[in-house]
Amino acid sequence: MIKKAVFPGSFDPITKGHESIIKRSLDLFDVIYVAIGINTSKKYLFPLEDRKSWIEKTFADEEKIKIITYDTLTTKLCESLGAKYILRGLRNTTDFNFECSIAQTNRVIVPGIETIFMVTDVEQSAINSNIVRDIYIHGGDINPFIPDAVDI
Ligand code: ADP
Repeated sequence: MIKKAVFPGSFDPITKGHESIIKRSLDLFDVIYVAIGINTSKKYLFPLEDRKSWIEKTFADEEKIKIITYDTLTTKLCESLGAKYILRGLRNTTDFNFECSIAQTNRVIVPGIETIFMVTDVEQSAINSNIVRDIYIHGGDINPFIPDAVDI
């Protein structure tokens, strides 16, 4: 059976942390959907088209990776794609506490769904999209934190 995983997020913008988790999970899955969630009540810093094109650039050579957008529940997206796995990165216990509840409730909604957690490498554990946005807004250089293929 083809193993499909969904890696959901806002990717506002994609960081080296996201890039690392996606690359490390390539051995585990046949297809990884990097799914950019669109939440109309949420304000994003970077336009959707840019966020998508930066992810496309980062994984231009990876056939297993598909970049999509969605505006529904992540579990609904998984069902429509036939994806059994949700991939998440864990930096610390704050991530764990938050992600644990989401993973548990997702299994109530869709019993077969499995959330796979990957623990961040130490080099990326302090990288956070929120902080990266703050640096950008205040005129700082965010290039150390975003994939080498991307230049913002
Ligand atoms: P959200 O908007 O829900 O915070 P993000 O787009 O920031 O989503 O992140 C999507 C996924 O990437 C989440 O599983 C998050 O834990 C993970 N992630 C974010 N930053 C890092 C990082 N530096 N290292 C590993 N995983 C990360």
